[in-house]
Amino acid sequence: MTEKKYVLAIDQGTTSSRAILFNHSGQIVSVGQYEHEQIFPRAGWVEHDPKEIWDNVRQAVATALSKASTNRHEIAAVGITNQRETTVVWNKNTGEPVYNAIVWQDTRTDKIVKELAGDEGPEKYKKVCGLPLATYFAGPKIKWILDNVDGAREKAEAGDLLFGTTDTWTLWNMTGGVNGGVHVTDVTNASRTMLMDLESLSWDENIAGDMGIPMSMLPEIKSSSEVYGMGRKQGLLVDTPISGILGDQQAATFGQACFEVGMAKNTYGTGNFMLINTGNEVVQSDNGLLTTVCYKIGEQDAVYALEGSIAVTGSLIQWLRDNLGIITSAPEVEKLAESVDDNGGAYFVPAFSGLFAPYWKSDARGALVGLTRFVNKGHIARAALEATAFQTREVQEAMAADSDVKLTELKVDGGMVANELLMQFQADILGVDVVRPKVAETTALGAAYAAGIAVGFWEGEQDVIDNWDEDKRWSPQMDEEERERTYRLWKKAVTKTFDWVD
Ligand code: ADP
Repeated sequence: MTEKKYVLAIDQGTTSSRAILFNHSGQIVSVGQYEHEQIFPRAGWVEHDPKEIWDNVRQAVATALSKASTNRHEIAAVGITNQRETTVVWNKNTGEPVYNAIVWQDTRTDKIVKELAGDEGPEKYKKVCGLPLATYFAGPKIKWILDNVDGAREKAEAGDLLFGTTDTWTLWNMTGGVNGGVHVTDVTNASRTMLMDLESLSWDENIAGDMGIPMSMLPEIKSSSEVYGMGRKQGLLVDTPISGILGDQQAATFGQACFEVGMAKNTYGTGNFMLINTGNEVVQSDNGLLTTVCYKIGEQDAVYALEGSIAVTGSLIQWLRDNLGIITSAPEVEKLAESVDDNGGAYFVPAFSGLFAPYWKSDARGALVGLTRFVNKGHIARAALEATAFQTREVQEAMAADSDVKLTELKVDGGMVANELLMQFQADILGVDVVRPKVAETTALGAAYAAGIAVGFWEGEQDVIDNWDEDKRWSPQMDEEERERTYRLWKKAVTKTFDWVD
């Protein structure tokens, strides 16, 4: 038998799908990556084509394997991580999606969410599922599809339609699709639907009933690390165990080795997501955070987290590039921001999808305030970067209030952590060290570990800890008075975005 040298992680992200091959030391051996189209049919709507995503996943796998001149015989296991909440509904007999995937940032379910809340308000289901009623989560997106796509409800009630987030969509296709595809998700993804009871880790029939979602559509909920099925359809991974699934942010928390209560990581991608490990207890937030499953390794008890989700951080940099044209690539924003000494009084609150944590205001919209004739594009670039750091501080304060855990340093990852100016400003605004690991692809790494642990390629969490290595650290340099002054102005700017949508 050929020696197993690698674990393959599939990272089905918001902007692209990646396949990354890791060796036993947790280092990257090769990468395949393909971007998919962002479809914006109307203001506030964001869709992806699930078929394009599945094609890209297959191509990414082929590219990663061929770059490393390897094949399935050397691959011990496959792990999947994914953009969470993004909702696919498809026909199990044909494999055809009945509608495009509705992406997590999409706000079309605003009305549905308000109707569901009724007199009881947005926290109606929070005790059960840990989440406030908001457009972000999958349940209301399923309801929208069943309410609005011709014939969908009848087919769903007849048992012909399946729901999945993109982990489930990918797994179902990889394990055979219409020919016996496995219809499974993991506890972390299930905890983002609003449909799962956090304590029992099973679907809540009452909430599904309120949303008019037939139980037959819902995937089976499994742990984050066990063999779900074997690769089938596309020759490349035939008979290879698929044995890890974690939502992207939970995967990053795992890849960053945040295994103890109070350990936290912050991922800077399209949006920002900070998670703090709260152990085996479900901790309810009083300060605008989400309660979510962090991971569950096989038969072990589930580990929970509090999460601060910020909808727009890196995507604001894309917006500067694509909509304003003041930069031609995302990394260029650092140079532009360095062309000025400070923000020149400008504050940019990117409430493009409303405001997520800690506000949860679907009807907020973006604002650029504090402008004078003095302000130029350098200041705007700086204000855009600073927005990420200020939003992170708001989330960090909420975490401190909810969990009594004092942050001593922050582990960071994601596309934006290449930006040194931002990392320094983040340390300044938080007043604690910011630490970047050597392997910045912590999302894929976390999924690889979950898969590898399930098949004995790695023994357990200690391997993750041993392989984690620091790359760079930023310490606070700003004086306390300036830190609080600028943060106060940010808080004032945020209030200008409230109640904008009629
Ligand atoms: P995701 O996984 O959410 O698709 P990534 O972790 O790949 O995102 O990060 C991509 C995001 O990071 C993009 O929104 C991009 O604008 C931003 N980004 C990438 N490089 C930089 C940089 N040097 N400075 C600021 N933002 C950056």
